[in-house]
Amino acid sequence: MALIVQKYGGSSVGDADKIKHVARRIIETQAAGNQVCVVVSAMGDTTDELMDLANQVASRPEGRELDMLLTAGERISMALVSMAINDLGAKSLSFTGSQAGIITDEVHGNARIAEVTPDRVAEALAGGNIAIVAGFQGFNRNSKDITTLGRGGSDTTAVALAAALKADVCEIYSDVDGIYTADPRIIPTARKLDAIDVESMLELAAAGAKILHIRAVEFARRHKVNLVVRSTFSTDPGTVVISDENGAKQMEESIVSGVATDKSQAKITVIGIPDVPGKAAAVFTTVAEAGANIDMIVQNTPTGSDVTDAVSDITFTLPKGDLKHVLDALAQNKDVLGYRELESDEQIGKLSVVGAGMRTHSGVSAILFRALAEAGINVEMISTSEIRISVITSLDQVDDAARAVHKAFDLDSDTVATVYAGTGR
Ligand code: ASP
Ligand code: MG
Repeated sequence: MALIVQKYGGSSVGDADKIKHVARRIIETQAAGNQVCVVVSAMGDTTDELMDLANQVASRPEGRELDMLLTAGERISMALVSMAINDLGAKSLSFTGSQAGIITDEVHGNARIAEVTPDRVAEALAGGNIAIVAGFQGFNRNSKDITTLGRGGSDTTAVALAAALKADVCEIYSDVDGIYTADPRIIPTARKLDAIDVESMLELAAAGAKILHIRAVEFARRHKVNLVVRSTFSTDPGTVVISDENGAKQMEESIVSGVATDKSQAKITVIGIPDVPGKAAAVFTTVAEAGANIDMIVQNTPTGSDVTDAVSDITFTLPKGDLKHVLDALAQNKDVLGYRELESDEQIGKLSVVGAGMRTHSGVSAILFRALAEAGINVEMISTSEIRISVITSLDQVDDAARAVHKAFDLDSDTVATVYAGTGR
């Protein structure tokens, strides 16, 4: 008997009919001779709606209370899915994150899983039940409070449970047939991949691809979880994320596996910083103390008449949500940091191309920059890793940039991908 962990995203449990559909699918999986543990997200756009409500009643809702509020979304879907399964004659029990033994650190809104002790889930499965677990949430032992794992965190719940239960496979169900060479909502001719190596998937997730939560991919890599991304609404076998090195070696290495865009970033330029050792450290210490996670950094060559009055500019990108308080922190430290002025821009987009084959193939950047030039797209910043190249463009050009680059790397297919549900919000 195999043990399968399935995760259903918000659009898969968006209304009563979809919940009944999911319930039938789960029962079929059990009837085929498997033990089934299911992780669910909140229905549809519930999490966003709860967030909007919180922001209407408070200007800065406390992390603890936000987590209490948002975790309710997953509790609603876990109970409804469980009821639907029981109604169809199979046995099911639902569990909150803390009942399922998802133990986290204390960081509200972005907690990390410290330990998974799914005794009650294992017991339920042994008793012939289907176990339904609320995704995205955990429990901290010190504070005795409920936490959340960051937006999109139900994937991580599923992979963590799969590792702890030693499941044979963890299936992430979504509203598209698997992992595509680009988001089919932006590039309808994106091609579905049968398999992808975990390193490329990590880079794609970090670059803004929303198909899998980055922590879930990290967890799968570390614990060698068999991960598959499939659709709730079709029988397509989906995309396998290959975590073990031998498996990845057997794959034919594509130069580029995919293109991702990220519209959630902003950039700050600190202009006229004295070109002396320690100034960059001071700037980034200020940014770090403000709590922002920065991504790309560029420092231009110093200008000035001689060494003593040379100044340079530093530009970096950060999440839009951190822009205001980082600007405030830098402004408060203007005298100590000694810069001339600050500039910021929220109208930027990041485009990334990712592929394990970049390690061994040359000429990838030439193709990329030629495609961007031919499409008339201006590149503002560039950064690279061993298997990724990212560029910053203006926000209104980033989708066009993605389409041009997708085409230049021959990733387009002749059919149009099906998006079964969901707003991609
Ligand atoms: N409901 C949560 C969110 O919207 C968690 C998830 O969907 O995985 O971010
Ligand atoms: Mg999700």
